[in-house]
Amino acid sequence: METMELQYRAYKPKPFTKEERPHTTLLFGGLTWKHERLLQGAMERMGYRSEPLPNVERQDLDIGKEYIDVGACCPTTFTAGNLARTLMTKAKEEGLENLKKNYIFVTIGACGPCRFGQYHESYERVLEGLNITDFRLFLLDLLQMEQAAPGGGLEISMPLTFGLVYGMFLADLITDMEYAVRPYEMMEGQTDRVVRESIELLYEKLKSRPIKGKKLLSLAWHVVTDYFVKALREVRELWDGVEVDRLRVKPRVKITGEFWLQTHEGDGNYNIKRWLEKEGAEVIPPPIAVWMDYLINMELFKLEDSKGYVKKYHLKKFAIGTIASLYKLVYNRLRKALNYIPNPLPDQRELKELAKPYFYYRLTGGEGHMLVGKALYAYRHKHAHMICELSPYGCLPNTMSVGAMAKVLGDYPDLLYAPIEIKGDAEVHAYSRCQMILTEAKRRAKEEFEEALERTGLTVERVREFEEERPELRRATYKVPHYGYAGTSANYVMHVAELMGKRVGT
Ligand code: SF4
Repeated sequence: METMELQYRAYKPKPFTKEERPHTTLLFGGLTWKHERLLQGAMERMGYRSEPLPNVERQDLDIGKEYIDVGACCPTTFTAGNLARTLMTKAKEEGLENLKKNYIFVTIGACGPCRFGQYHESYERVLEGLNITDFRLFLLDLLQMEQAAPGGGLEISMPLTFGLVYGMFLADLITDMEYAVRPYEMMEGQTDRVVRESIELLYEKLKSRPIKGKKLLSLAWHVVTDYFVKALREVRELWDGVEVDRLRVKPRVKITGEFWLQTHEGDGNYNIKRWLEKEGAEVIPPPIAVWMDYLINMELFKLEDSKGYVKKYHLKKFAIGTIASLYKLVYNRLRKALNYIPNPLPDQRELKELAKPYFYYRLTGGEGHMLVGKALYAYRHKHAHMICELSPYGCLPNTMSVGAMAKVLGDYPDLLYAPIEIKGDAEVHAYSRCQMILTEAKRRAKEEFEEALERTGLTVERVREFEEERPELRRATYKVPHYGYAGTSANYVMHVAELMGKRVGT
């Protein structure tokens, strides 16, 4: 009797050679348009043609469901659908053979218990579904500074990696500026325009940055260079021209959640950040730099766990500790160029300690212990009135965090926390859930503001008069210190009082 053997055959892309580089475009995506534009600049400087995928749209969810496992998490479905839509469009416009010859898709992945370790598997299902398994798709390991795809056409060198890291930092900082300024802008639309100008300016800088050395020299140059600081000083001048009114009382809402969902700006997360702004909030967006910082520090924590068993423990600890410190140092230098308006990176050790009673930090799927840690960090340091956590439908790691948060809320009943499940097609439910918590956050912001006025003996009119004497206070780049209030307007009143010579304390 004949037996039929079904053998699993792993997808293996055809090589991408150096000779093909000049006429081959690298497709990539999954971030915001700002991050993608700057990463594009970093790649183009190294001789790669590149093109971000179009922003994720609602239709990508339906397309994704056609090609991949129906139980896949919502970010995987959205991004797989987005890839499928792009490939179909290009095949139609440029022809199937040209698509296969002139494009490759590059994605990142890492080992791990969640689907992030298997995104490429879903993308392979897309290629099968479209019957183009000879289209080239390359998976790069997120944690490697240097690597190459088969064939030598795609080489991730130190200068390219550092260019990408700077691109990510710069996009994070501009995004922080954007969300800190837009709710208070006097001229509607000005912030969005300045964001676009800033990103284009930085794109050109990344695209024409000097390439110094290959390995250690490249590392040293990227740590000490003031090239990007100078670029940001030019950007700051653009923001200097934006006038703001910080007396608008708004609740500050910190966005946390799964990596892709919290970063994304668009249909993939119901455009929740813009929706919150429309509802009268100031949003604190999540920088990608925090996640990279987490990955670096996790190496340190794991090493400390195995202290008794690791050879050259102190040397290794020193090496990783130095990388972690340099990472923050560079980020803070860039923040300084924007007068520290973008938020600092949280202390990873503190996040771990805050989360410790609720979430074991070695459970590293998704955002690991950071969801719990970030919520408590924002609450204890009074950075936000409310946490909006974006939880993807079908995500196991996130389900664990949300479960742990139940205990956190038992211990901190005062913490305003809105976990929003994102399925991709149920925005009314998500908005209404968020709205309930937002109402309370608004009340607290108002209460704080009134308390600040009472403490300082000021009135809104008096603050306005003072602004006329000191017009620089209304610049978007003017830094208002933190006086222990979560709200921008309450801290602003305290600051004005201090400038007037009143004793305010913190
Ligand atoms: S963390 Fe969750 S949503 Fe994100 S890739 Fe992993 S399983 Fe999917």
